[in-house]
Amino acid sequence: MRRTPKDAAVVATDSWTDPDGFRSPGGAVHAWLPSTNQTVCGRQLSTAGLLRFPHIQWVDVQPATGRDADRVSAVCPQCAAGMGARRDDRSWTRTNPRP
Ligand SMILES: [Zn+2]
Repeated sequence: MRRTPKDAAVVATDSWTDPDGFRSPGGAVHAWLPSTNQTVCGRQLSTAGLLRFPHIQWVDVQPATGRDADRVSAVCPQCAAGMGARRDDRSWTRTNPRP
């Protein structure tokens, strides 16, 4: 999967309605590219029973920073890796200037 991660939306195992009336993801979340029928980590949406949230972006369900992560209990590590989270973490530690 070589699509730009910024395009990714979200699928989740559960949903709830937030105080503003928006359907929001809960439980375990995966990254999903809306033009596909599977998650970034390769699960088929239909067989895995995952709920689609095309109006929610992946960045918004990250528990550390996301505004729609209140009910998110788990972020799929494979999707996080596929979305470049670990690569970003690593590059952050490499930003120190070379001697
Ligand atoms: Zn996943």
